[in-house]
Amino acid sequence: MILTVTLNPAIDVSYHVQHFQIGHGHRVENGNKTAGGKGLNVSRVLQQLNSEVLCTGLLGGSTGTWIKNQLDSVNLMHDFLEITGETRTCLAMLDPIAGTQTELMERGPTISKEEVERFRDHFKHLCQKANIVIASGSMPKGMPSPFYQEMGEITRELHIPFLLDTSGNALTEGIEGRPFLIKPNEMELRAYVGRELSNEEEMLEAAKIICNKGVQYVLLSLGSKGAILVGQENILKAEIPEMEVKNPVGSGDSMLAGMAYALQQGFSISKSLAFACACGMANAVEEQTGYVEKVVVEKLVPQVKVTPL
Ligand code: ADP
Repeated sequence: MILTVTLNPAIDVSYHVQHFQIGHGHRVENGNKTAGGKGLNVSRVLQQLNSEVLCTGLLGGSTGTWIKNQLDSVNLMHDFLEITGETRTCLAMLDPIAGTQTELMERGPTISKEEVERFRDHFKHLCQKANIVIASGSMPKGMPSPFYQEMGEITRELHIPFLLDTSGNALTEGIEGRPFLIKPNEMELRAYVGRELSNEEEMLEAAKIICNKGVQYVLLSLGSKGAILVGQENILKAEIPEMEVKNPVGSGDSMLAGMAYALQQGFSISKSLAFACACGMANAVEEQTGYVEKVVVEKLVPQVKVTPL
């Protein structure tokens, strides 16, 4: 099965507020509440693709219980480590008139040293059941910054491909653990190398630097411009058709789920890239974040043009 790791999950609550104004009170309909965190988006998409998936990470307090109940209600298997802190809540105020989105994102709980140790053991135990591991998103306070690096080392010893999608310091340190694949977007790659990347050549150079550190594949996602897969031996470019997009939030998570699914199915690397792009596109045409229809994905795959560079 595919094991997904969400170290800093959240309850995402969004409100529709017409004419949202700072410093004013607004009467609103009940917020739309979802179990959030990039890893949970990945898990939902894997489930929509009919993959067997197990979600893990850290959950605590009544918000943590709400997330567990929510996962139960959609039959997503989970085995989180219970922590003493309260899982965070993130709020988004969407103003459909102004077209703005104002967000408040809690930092989340602080993880104790003892909880870190317990999670390490828990993770090692769950890896015994996994044939692919995916870790997504930020790390909560208290989690040692090289934790993704450690996960890379643990999974390599067990010969399990490790797919990592994070940013900032967590990505920089995570790369040192030589994950099988990372999925930066342009902004994350730029932040990693610490300079502007003004053309494709510069992006490829940056991705190659990462491959030279022992990462097998850098899946560079480029939004509506498709993606480039830089491997140790070859580079593939995926071009996608123009389409009417409803909500591209979660497209990167859907793409990563698609890549994991393709690897598990044993697709060729070129078909895996096309399939991953199609999953990102299939999410972008839906209103819901982290949602794809498998039939739509299958229709989109042949529309992705993959060429070697
Ligand atoms: P992230 O959400 O991590 O920033 P991207 O925005 O690059 O990731 O999206 C991942 C993939 O989803 C893209 O490579 C593409 O296949 C698809 N996608 C994203 N945005 C669009 C869009 N506007 N139109 C068509 N496909 C999109």
